[in-house]
Amino acid sequence: MRWLGVCGIALTLAVGLWLHAHAGPNLAAAVYSLRGRVVAVDPGHGGIDPGAIGPYGVNEDTINLAVSLELATMLEHAGAIVVLTRTGDNDQAGTTADGPSSRRRLDQRARVALIRAADAEVVISVHANHFSSPSEHGAQVFYDSRRQAQSKELAALMQIQLARITGETRRKISEHIEHYILAQSDVPGVTVELGFLSNPREARLLAQSSYQHRLAYAIYTGIALWYARVPSGTTAPSSPHPQTASNP
Ligand SMILES: [Zn+2]
Repeated sequence: MRWLGVCGIALTLAVGLWLHAHAGPNLAAAVYSLRGRVVAVDPGHGGIDPGAIGPYGVNEDTINLAVSLELATMLEHAGAIVVLTRTGDNDQAGTTADGPSSRRRLDQRARVALIRAADAEVVISVHANHFSSPSEHGAQVFYDSRRQAQSKELAALMQIQLARITGETRRKISEHIEHYILAQSDVPGVTVELGFLSNPREARLLAQSSYQHRLAYAIYTGIALWYARVPSGTTAPSSPHPQTASNP
């Protein structure tokens, strides 16, 4: 099996060289800060819940999962430990759910339990948007301003990378979000809205694996740069789930 190790080293070197050539030395260095970090990736929806409905038979849950799986692979290649809240077209509600709203509630709780059990240090929830006006477009990162301050920094870095790497968004980060999983996870986190399925041109892009790859790569670089920038000891990893009275 020694050739597997050689292949792994060769792949890591190849990725490092590619990053250096295409993203500059800062990102190539930042990627090393991902080693050993525990990152939760939450592909929104799944199972009976398709999320936003796309015009070409590709719905939000499918796009969220495709981008999340690519993101997970990139993070793992950089040495991070990834916890995915789903890996297929399913939810985590189990068999006791009684109707769609109960199913959604149980699903969300189970996802938070997975994230907490893994001691994830950061949560990336992946969604796609829908709006009444078909002209709205572009990926956008949301954070909850009432939660960890580092979430805003992560959102800002990720938004810059989405603009740079997709070339399809001029949106700004937003704090206007109510997200149970982010709120309950007790660690920094963001929701990435990949784009608008209500925009016909963007819906076509979102369904393309090449564009999904670019989105995943933009999210990945945002996380890498955030880890490289946030001084160790000030992020949630040092105390991911406060248990004591001094951390109410
Ligand atoms: Zn969604």
